[in-house]
Amino acid sequence: MNYLDIDLDLTEEDIELKMAAHRFAREVMRPIARKLDEMTPEQVIAKDSPFWDFMRKAYELGYHTILIPEPYGGMDLTSKQQAIIYEELAWGSVGLTVGIGVAAFPSFGASLVAEEALIEKIIEPFCRCRDASIVGCWGITEPDHGSDTLVPHYPSFSDPAIKSQCRAKPDGDHYILNGQKSAWVSLGTVSTHCALFCQIDPSMGHAGGGIFALPLDLPGISKGAPLNKIGQRDLNQGEIFFDNVRVPAEYLIAGPEAYEALLEITLSATTALMGVFSAGLARAAFEEALEYAKNRVQGGKALIEYPNIQAKLFHMFSKVETSRLMSRAAYIFNQSTSTPAEEYSVVAKVYGTQAAFDVAHEAIQIFGGNGLTKEYHIEKLFRDARAMLIEDGSNDTLAIAGGHKMIHSYPRLDM
Ligand SMILES: Cc1cc2nc3c(=O)[nH]c(=O)nc-3n(C[C@H](O)[C@H](O)[C@H](O)COP(=O)(O)OP(=O)(O)OC[C@H]3O[C@@H](n4cnc5c(N)ncnc54)[C@H](O)[C@@H]3O)c2cc1C
Repeated sequence: MNYLDIDLDLTEEDIELKMAAHRFAREVMRPIARKLDEMTPEQVIAKDSPFWDFMRKAYELGYHTILIPEPYGGMDLTSKQQAIIYEELAWGSVGLTVGIGVAAFPSFGASLVAEEALIEKIIEPFCRCRDASIVGCWGITEPDHGSDTLVPHYPSFSDPAIKSQCRAKPDGDHYILNGQKSAWVSLGTVSTHCALFCQIDPSMGHAGGGIFALPLDLPGISKGAPLNKIGQRDLNQGEIFFDNVRVPAEYLIAGPEAYEALLEITLSATTALMGVFSAGLARAAFEEALEYAKNRVQGGKALIEYPNIQAKLFHMFSKVETSRLMSRAAYIFNQSTSTPAEEYSVVAKVYGTQAAFDVAHEAIQIFGGNGLTKEYHIEKLFRDARAMLIEDGSNDTLAIAGGHKMIHSYPRLDM
């Protein structure tokens, strides 16, 4: 379905990128995502799984490097182009889009500091990779630390009573890693590298963290079983364990002195991107409902002819449009500054994911009984949207943290 984008500043290049991403989403991602959704978590990651077909095709097109700056081999995109492409990919499958996004995480994190060793050992090989043999992930949450790991500058973030379950101790020119990350690490069981967020200085609570971009083939690293879940079943997830792992210090992106600031920069990007992804998913659900309402004849008329269905579709459409405007704007703004306004990214994520869930929910209502069956794509979109209300920070806790940030920095006159 051709979709009007009311941004009058889109260039021809923006539109070409958008159309190419949409084609990929429609022809490759959708069919693969639907197959993966029906498989067990083990089948999803098996060698001959369509998951790897998706990954290889995405890597061939360079989509694994969307977030990486051009000097290191990234796609050389503006922030707006990144948002445009990600929205289209998420229209195809939000789970696969999260996958191709986190695959870049160690390189994305490393690009924020751009140390020579990190460029050479992490970023450049990843950007050159075209066969999906280098796959990153982002390990931040832990079995006993979910929401609390994602709220930099919130008072509890610096509470020394908080003891992380994954710690790094300096040891000469190495760090010794012990502990584990949660079962929710996206691509956790298939990744070759990790952007690992762990505690270095426990006296500072979560704020005493460090970020590593490390290969996962070091002795002492093991993985858990792939997680089984209701939504985003096409996204592999699982634990990573560390048992006295010796990590060369050159893999450290940032230590405690910069941890909170770098985490905030990272979250300002990822949280806004979750809003972008949710605009893609919401649009997919809206389009499913629109198409269905045009074709389903009930009581002698197509559903679309009933005024309540038209009004319902209008409210769904409003949510799609506002979600895109907010998330794209928040992402572009926060990518343009080294002192991000994270609260705007939180608005994008909390509003956008709730909007996606509401739109998918209303879409099922329009489908009636058919919406509950596996025959129609809408039930998958609904389950995928449900996961987004928790993914990358539950909306409840993000709202508390976003509210705290907003109250302390409002009004912002420093521009
Ligand atoms: C699809 C998906 C992908 C994910 N990908 C990754 C990944 O790549 N890497 C990674 O590390 N993690 C990942 N996660 C984990 C995700 O970030 C966490 O699930 C999320 O932060 C919530 O943490 P939790 O599940 O431990 O819930 P909890 O933190 O235990 O929260 C449970 C409930 O309690 C509420 N709550 C918690 N604390 C408070 C409080 N202080 N005040 C009021 N209410 C509170 C929350 O809002 C929530 O409703 C992913 C999760 C999902 C669902």
